[in-house]
Amino acid sequence: MRARRQDLAEPSGHTLDGVRAAAAGCRACDLWKRGAQTVFGEGPAHARLMLVGEQPGDREDLGGHPFVGPAGRLLDGALADAGIERRRVWLTNAVKHFKWEPRGKARIHKKPSGAEVAACRPWLEHELQLVRPSGLLLMGATAAQALLGPRVRVTVARGRAIDSELATVVMVTVHPSSLLRAPTEADRAREYARFVEDLRRFAAETAAAAPRRRA
Ligand code: URA
Repeated sequence: MRARRQDLAEPSGHTLDGVRAAAAGCRACDLWKRGAQTVFGEGPAHARLMLVGEQPGDREDLGGHPFVGPAGRLLDGALADAGIERRRVWLTNAVKHFKWEPRGKARIHKKPSGAEVAACRPWLEHELQLVRPSGLLLMGATAAQALLGPRVRVTVARGRAIDSELATVVMVTVHPSSLLRAPTEADRAREYARFVEDLRRFAAETAAAAPRRRA
């Protein structure tokens, strides 16, 4: 399971703004019909760290920015506790539209299918090609499998560097929303501490690696 840089689509001449504008009109799967808008990644154009989640949630869909709802607040706290400044990170998702189903008046998150993840993958590939992060952290199974293949298991791959050409340091951890579902306060505190530790190790290993050269 070695992800190869040659597998990535070439953005030839694209800029992040150009790719963001193209993604806003994406019709590669049907999710655009349900979501309010495409939620593209955000952060500094040459961020050293890229974090990838699953898909925007209700708040992200309405606001147009990644990780601004409950999972985003949890992530913000964990990043701060790990000594990572959010404003220095490129934050994005494997799927860029909110997939949901109605429950009463609420819009309930629904996991994207493999076909939807595959349809959205070119946008993530463009982000990787253009930002060229030294460190890539895949949060949760959808992000990990989108870039490393369907056989990756978060519980097995978590917390150690993965052999991959996608970035100098590639790691997998849980999705922050899984912490929100922890059954007890004690479970949540323990899982939060593990998540912060994963973030800290990811940042430290990336800091120790040589920055990637740009073409
Ligand atoms: N969950 C995600 O995976 N991404 C977001 O942007 C928000 C919640």
